[in-house]
Amino acid sequence: MAAWRSAALIAAIVFAAALFGHLTRPLGFLSTFWPANALLMGLMVRNPGWAGPLGWVGAAAGYLAADFAMGGDLGITLWLTAGNLTNACVGYLLFQRIAAADRQLERPQALLSLLLIAFAAAVAAACVSFGCVVVYFGHAPLQAFEFVLTSEFASNLVVLPMVLTASRLAEMMKRPVARPVPHAGRSQTFQPAAALMASILAGTVIGGPTAIAIPIPAILWCALSYGVFPTALLTFGLGLWQCTVLVARLAPGTADYAAALTSHRFGVALFSLGPIMVAVINAARARLLNELDQAANQDALTGVLSRRAFLLRSEAILTGTQAVPGPVALLMLDVDRFKRINDEHGHAAGDEALVALAGHIATLLRPGDLFGRLGGEEFAIMLPGLSQPAAFALAERLRDGCARLRIPVDKRAPLALTISIGLVSGAAGGSLQHLLQEADAALYRAKQAGRDRVVAARLAA
Ligand code: GH3
Ligand code: MG
Ligand code: MG
Repeated sequence: MAAWRSAALIAAIVFAAALFGHLTRPLGFLSTFWPANALLMGLMVRNPGWAGPLGWVGAAAGYLAADFAMGGDLGITLWLTAGNLTNACVGYLLFQRIAAADRQLERPQALLSLLLIAFAAAVAAACVSFGCVVVYFGHAPLQAFEFVLTSEFASNLVVLPMVLTASRLAEMMKRPVARPVPHAGRSQTFQPAAALMASILAGTVIGGPTAIAIPIPAILWCALSYGVFPTALLTFGLGLWQCTVLVARLAPGTADYAAALTSHRFGVALFSLGPIMVAVINAARARLLNELDQAANQDALTGVLSRRAFLLRSEAILTGTQAVPGPVALLMLDVDRFKRINDEHGHAAGDEALVALAGHIATLLRPGDLFGRLGGEEFAIMLPGLSQPAAFALAERLRDGCARLRIPVDKRAPLALTISIGLVSGAAGGSLQHLLQEADAALYRAKQAGRDRVVAARLAA
C-alpha cells in the first residue's frame, strides 16, 4: 500500500514538473527548461525506498499524463518519456555507487561526483532521445544529440543540488541548545539576495552573451552568506532565469540558434556548480571552525565555557577589548554535597546531573553573559552591566531554579540538588583575580551558613 502511495506521489510531482517544463516551451519547439528528470532523480536518490518498479511506473505515468494534457503526439511522447526516464534512472543508479555523505553534498569532493553523474545521465538520455529530435523536429543527428545532452546536463546541475541538500532546511530550523558561548555570529542579512536580484535585473536589461555572467559576484556573495540549501535554491532560480528569459533572447529560427543554445546551456550547467561549490566549502570550513572552537573553548561534559576560555573572556570584559563602562558582577557556584550524589547514584549519574544543571542555568542567562566551568562541580558566571542588587536577584533565581530542578538519572525518584553562590560586584578596569578571590570567599561563607543560599561579598571591588 505504501508503495502505491509513493508511486502516486511521484506521478503527481513528475506531472507538475513536466507541465512546468511544457509551459517554458517556445512555440513549436522543445522545452527550454525541463526540471522533471533531475527532480525525479533527486527524489529517488533521497528516498531509495521509492525507486522500486512501481515508483518508476508512477514516474512514467506522470510524464505521459502531462504530455497528453498538453496535446502531445503519441510517438514523440513515448520516445521522449523513455529519454526522460533514462536520465533519472542512470543518475539514480550512479548516485548509489558514491558515499552517502556525498549524496547530500556534505564534502567539497562530492561536487566532482555530482558533475560526472549529471553529465553521464545526460549522455545516456541523449543516446535514447536524440533520434526523436531528428525524426520529428528535423535536426541533424549531432545537433539533436547536443540539444538533448545540454538540456539534461543544465537542468541536472541546476535542480539536483536543491533536492539533494533539502534536509539542511530542517537542520537550520532546529535551534541549538542554549549554550552561552559567544560566537562571531553570521549576520543574517538580505543584502546578498538583494544584490542578486539587482544583477539579474541588470543582466536582463543589458542582455547579450555576457548576461549570464553578470550575477556571478552576487551569487558568490550569497554562497558565502547563506547555507548550502539556500544557495542551491537561489542557484535554481538563477538557472531558471538563464534557461528561460535569457534563452528567449537567442532568437529561434536563426542559423546559429542551435549552436548558441548548446553553448548557453553548457554555460548555465557549469555556472551553477560554482556557487554550490563555494557554499559547500564554506559550510565545511564553518564546521571545522566550530569543532576547533569547541575543542579549545568548551567544557567537554557540559558544553559551557572551559575554565581557560572563561578566564580569558572575563579578563577581556574587565580590562581588555570588550570592556564596557559600568558595573560587572561575578558569581561563583558550587553544587552542595555533590560527593553524596556520586556515592548514592554513581559517577555517571553525577555527570548527567552536572549536564542538566548547566543546561538549566544557561537558559536563565542573557546572551552576553559568560558561563564557565571552573572545575569539578564548580561554575562561574560573569554578568556585564549588572548592578549588585540585580545580580543578587539573578543569583537567587538561579539558586531557586536549581533547587526546583528534578533530574531523572536512574530508575529511582528524580534527583534533586541545591547550589550555593558567592557573589561579588565590581567595575570595568578591576582585577579579575581579586573578584575571583572575593566571590570564592563569599561562596565559602554560603557553605558555612548552611548551603542552598546566595552570599554577597562584603567589600565591592
Ligand atoms: P560541598 O560543596 O557542599 O561542601 O560538598 P561536596 O560534596 O560538593 O564537596 P566537594 O566540593 O569537596 O566535592 C566535590 C565532588 O564532586 C568530588 C568529586 O567526586 C565530584 N566531582 C568533581 N568533578 C566531577 C565530575 O566531573 N563528575 C562527577 N560525577 N563528579 C565530580
Ligand atoms: Mg560541592
Ligand atoms: Mg566543589
